[in-house]
This record gives sequence, C-alpha cells and structure tokens, in this order.
Amino acid sequence: MSDSVSDSTPNSASNRENERDDRPVALPLVVLPLNAQRYSCHGCGNCCRDFTVQLRPADLRKLESQAWAEKLGMPVTVEFRGVTYLRQRDDGACVFLMDDGLCRIHKEYGFAEKPIACQMFPFVPVPDDRRTRVGLSFACQSVRENKGAELRSHTAEIDRMTRAIPETRIATYTAMLADAMGAKEGELDTLSYAVDAYLARGDLTFRDRFDGLAWVAASLGRAKLADVRATRFRELVSLLFSALPAELEHLPLEAALPKQSRLLRQAVYARLEDVQVNTAKSRGRWRTVLAQLFASRAFTRGKGRVPAVARGLLNEASFDQIAQVPILSESPDRDGIEDLFVRYARATIVGGRAWGAGYYGWPAVRGFQALVLNIACAAWLARALAAARGHEHVLMEDARDALGRIDRHAGRAPWLGSVGERLRLEYFRLDDGLRRIVRSSI
Ligand code: SF4
Repeated sequence: MSDSVSDSTPNSASNRENERDDRPVALPLVVLPLNAQRYSCHGCGNCCRDFTVQLRPADLRKLESQAWAEKLGMPVTVEFRGVTYLRQRDDGACVFLMDDGLCRIHKEYGFAEKPIACQMFPFVPVPDDRRTRVGLSFACQSVRENKGAELRSHTAEIDRMTRAIPETRIATYTAMLADAMGAKEGELDTLSYAVDAYLARGDLTFRDRFDGLAWVAASLGRAKLADVRATRFRELVSLLFSALPAELEHLPLEAALPKQSRLLRQAVYARLEDVQVNTAKSRGRWRTVLAQLFASRAFTRGKGRVPAVARGLLNEASFDQIAQVPILSESPDRDGIEDLFVRYARATIVGGRAWGAGYYGWPAVRGFQALVLNIACAAWLARALAAARGHEHVLMEDARDALGRIDRHAGRAPWLGSVGERLRLEYFRLDDGLRRIVRSSI
C-alpha cells in the first residue's frame, strides 16, 4: 500500500502564507490509495433515498437564495431536535430527487451548489494528527460495483469540498491505540499496513482472511498493550499476522454460541434501524421508541418472521429460513463476493474509517474489532436478503445490498458509537466471539 500525499497537499509557499495570516494550515489530503478501488457517480439516485442530510449554515443560505420554497410550494428543510435537515417525501426520497433519478438543484444550478454533504458523498474525509485521509462509503452503488475513474482523479474536487468543511482539514484528534492509551508514532500506521497487507494476500481462502482478521482483533484486545509499545507493538502485530493462517487450524472452533448469535442479530438490527425524520415526527417519540424496542426484541429472539424494518427490506423472510441459507464461502458468486468484502475492509482501514475521527473517536483496537463485527453483520444480512428473495444461496446482489446497508450508518449513527455497542463488543471478546460470528456466515 502506498500512502503518498496527493496533489492537493498545500505547497510550502502557501503554507508560509497561511502561517503569516494566522489561519490554520490545511492538513495534507490523502485520497484512498487503493488501486483496486474505483468510483464515479452513475446517477442511480440511491443516496438520495432514505439518507438524512444535515445542513450547514452555508447550505441554508444557498437554498434560500435559490428560492426553492417558492418554486416547489413547500419548505425544503425540516427541523428536528435542534438540527436542520433536507426535507424528504413520505417515501423517504429527497424533495429534490427527480423521476429520472437526478438532483434538481444539480440540474438547475450545478454540482457545487448542492448541500456540501451531498457533494461529498461517497467520500468521507477523516482528519488525524498529520493528514486528512479520504475514505469511501460503500453505501454508494458505484463504489460497491467498483465502477468509474481512479480515485486520485477526484483529488482536486475533494480538496475544494473539504475546504468548505474546515474541521475536516484541521488536526483536532489525538490518536489512541486503546482506551486511555495514546498511540505512539507509527503504531496506528503499522496496524493499518499489516491489516491491509494481510487482506491483500491472494493465497488465503475467503474464510481464512476474515477469520484471521477476527483472531488478530481479538488477540490485540486481550494483549496487555501498555507493556508492548512502539517497536515491540510493531513486533507483536507482525508476529500475529505471520502466525496466520496456520494458527486458525490449531484453534478450531464450533458454531457460534446461542448468546453470540443473539447479540449478532441485535447488532444487525442496530445497523438497519433507520428512523426517518418524517416518520419520527408523525409517529411521535414514544411510539417510535416502542416500535424500535419491539423490532429489537424480535431480532434478539430470532424466531418466526423478521419484523418490518428498513422499508420492508427483509419482508417474507423468517429467522429459520435465514439460518438455512449456506454461508458466503459456499455461494456460486463467491469470488465476486470475496472481492467486494476485501475491498470494503481494505478501504475502511486504509481510508481511516475504522477508528479515530472516522469511527466515533474510538481507539484503534476497539475500532478494528468493530470493523470485524460490521463484516459479520454484513455477511448475516446477505444471507437474510437471500432468504427474503427466495435465493438458495447468497448471490452477488444480496452481498452488495447487505454491505451497502451496513456501511450506510457506520461512523454516522450515534447509537453505533454508544456504550451499548461497546458492551456488545466486550462480550464478543469472550469465548472467541468475534471468530465464531465471522465463521457463522462467511
Ligand atoms: S449512490 Fe453513488 S452512484 Fe448512486 S447517485 Fe449516489 S453517489 Fe451516484
């Protein structure tokens, strides 16, 4: 993996100018340096449905000057709990989404006049103490399908967009290795490079790649890292990855324990939960909370029909049917699904979205474990989608849609960064939980 600084790095002359002006110096930009990943927008409009778009003051000024309320005969923003969002129609689509799947603001005023969050998607800028990494959201269809231009061709545009969101180019985050343990120089890069290099290994089976990842994540969680810093941390990471995949054969595992399966389904529900501002407003707070509680309990129990979630995504499926869908490694589309999952995991790690400012400010070890949990959730959901669609095996479309749903909320939904989610991860550290839930679906 090359981690080169992109073209948009401010040159030294402009840095000096900034220093003279006392303006903060923009962090250098590192656009996801993965040659295996491409992206261009193909205008499918999927990101304009069911996404809540939070607006900044500059967005509100633009929308007002474009006079949309008069043109459309209705307000185009909505306030909810003190935050202003783009308004959505009853079916969850943005009010500006047209029948041809294109954005009306874009059509009438151009790309740069859209709210900045809409311009930025699917790029995710993640500042740390030295640079702003730019990751990619796999909620985007073109990203999942790996269609489009080389990522570095978007650098100038990303530079322009991130400068409109100054906090994405300022070093405000203190890198943490584990709870209450700041990272030493090079430790987090060591971990990123090692995970990426391991995932890139073509000689491993689909299962071994992710089982191995779960084993390393759990092993780092158990290690007394305070005694293993800097060079010794590098040695530990190297030792763990060099033990793979042989170590997995020495530590065979039975199926996931019932409580682990329950917690996995609960984690999937937490990632599907998607209460729209419209729905929450019309239902009222208590009815919304009760509906969530009911659905969460049904996922935890795992019996009977799957409750209505995410606009009927899993309608017609029962938990028994989902359990009967073969694991992803047995899919006839296995190679494509493996490529998708590996690209996702590499892009998340290398793009800085696994920890720190990219994932609820979490320290690296816990963020790494959360990535493994997200992968297990995506694999379970892919089997659930196959069951809901009457497929005998998980097909490519099931895997793509599942990963898109799981990544849609990652790093954005506050409840996924909560104490409840932390406790869930703590539990998966026991009895080889992370490994078992990965192996139960991949
Ligand atoms: S989901 Fe991706 S490809 Fe589709 S409209 Fe949004 S950015 Fe474009």
